[in-house]
Amino acid sequence: MTKIAITGSGSGIGAATAEALRAAGHQVIGIDIRNADLNADLSTADGRAQAVAGVLARCDGVLDGLVLCAGLGVQVEPPARIVSVNYFGAVELLDGLLPALSKGSKPAAVVVSSVASAHLSWEDNRLAAVLEAGDEAAVAGVLESAGEKRGNFAYAGSKNAVTVAVRKRAVDWGRAGVRLNTVAPGVTETPLLQASLDDPRYSKAVRDFVAPLGRSAKPQEIAAVILFLLSTQAGFVHGAQFFVDGGIDAMMRPTRF
Ligand code: NAD
Repeated sequence: MTKIAITGSGSGIGAATAEALRAAGHQVIGIDIRNADLNADLSTADGRAQAVAGVLARCDGVLDGLVLCAGLGVQVEPPARIVSVNYFGAVELLDGLLPALSKGSKPAAVVVSSVASAHLSWEDNRLAAVLEAGDEAAVAGVLESAGEKRGNFAYAGSKNAVTVAVRKRAVDWGRAGVRLNTVAPGVTETPLLQASLDDPRYSKAVRDFVAPLGRSAKPQEIAAVILFLLSTQAGFVHGAQFFVDGGIDAMMRPTRF
């Protein structure tokens, strides 16, 4: 049995992943804002430190897998909170738990990014400088400059940055013997999706975002790819992003990959 920690374990893709991992015989440490094995608010530095300390205590400093799934959608106010959970809630757990993962058995980590990570380039990501500097307090000011589109910008900018953060860690993590990848889901039937459909500011754009396969994903379809990436079958997959999006990235950017 292996020990795997997972954030966002209470709902949607995280809940489907935790269920599939438990069914496969893994010991899961679920982290969420409430009703989890470990309750922590990943939108704050204290909550993130509490999550890292709580996982280390529960796994005795040896962790085999990590899935970072917790996230907030475009409609959440204030939008700086989206960035705090989606970006800082991922990178601070990656960095805090690498020493424990490096002692694990065939260890691997997966961060749930989004197809939205490819909606802008790192060079055009106005959040890039403050996120690389770890300056969470400066995020709200940068988002203000995006005006009415700040929800979209907070979401896509934080997802772009978290994918870049994973890719930039490929060398150090590879040397530590820990594989690290992202999955980039497209539209997936979860409470996060429903909340954006229920918000008149975003519902049309979300409805119009239709994949070539002509439907949205079930959370279990994203969980299946996460389980593959954690498994030894993906033993040479490292620093990669897997789009699980029904073909929408290929449709939007056929010449870029
Ligand atoms: P969801 O709302 O069903 O689940 C998200 C989970 O994150 C919830 O359990 C929630 O409580 C937790 N969370 C939120 N804020 C938190 C905080 N401050 N501290 C601790 N936990 C917190 O959403 P989902 O669709 O399953 O999203 C999972 C991941 O997939 C997110 O990172 C999301 O951005 C990404 N994603 C989702 C879609 C989609 O269409 N649903 C598409 C692309 C990417």
